[in-house]
Amino acid sequence: MMPTTAAVDKAPAKAPKSVLQDSQQIERAAALIRMGARMQVLESETDLSYERLLRLYKEVSGKSPSKGQLPFSTDWFLSWQENIHSSLFLNIYEYLSKSMDMDSIDILTKAYRLYSEQIVAAEVDPLLSFTRAWRLVKFVDANMLNMTQCSGCGGKFVTELYENPRQYVCGLCSPPARAGKCKGERTLMLH
Ligand SMILES: [Zn+2]
Repeated sequence: MMPTTAAVDKAPAKAPKSVLQDSQQIERAAALIRMGARMQVLESETDLSYERLLRLYKEVSGKSPSKGQLPFSTDWFLSWQENIHSSLFLNIYEYLSKSMDMDSIDILTKAYRLYSEQIVAAEVDPLLSFTRAWRLVKFVDANMLNMTQCSGCGGKFVTELYENPRQYVCGLCSPPARAGKCKGERTLMLH
């Protein structure tokens, strides 16, 4: 349903932030810091000032945030094991997006927790950091990456936009030649 004009008019253009809203923002930021989110994520997902976020970061994590820009390239998500981890996460994220009415950052947080649980259960290293997971969702939102169904197993995997679904074979159905050479390295299976 479209909001009526009256309802839109009633909402003040710039309401002062309430104490409750402010504390919700702090809670959200603290939860994100605990999950390992970097400053860029916090700045993007909360209304808090950089200075407040910095103070909060030091208080919650006990250290200064790491400097430097986030990697901008989509390549990381497309390399072999990284792609399997990214795909597992994005499948969970998309499932939750369709079934829950929540803010996208809350869905992201929930999806990341579920991803972490799967990783612990599979006894593999968590390749996908929370910040990477956030980045991945941004890339998908910006139509720089999407998911393609594998022609071999039918699973959905993170791919570039122009991937041909008739020919696409995922990294599990067709692992790279070096895969067998990593002795003792456990790989993540999606199915
Ligand atoms: Zn496959």
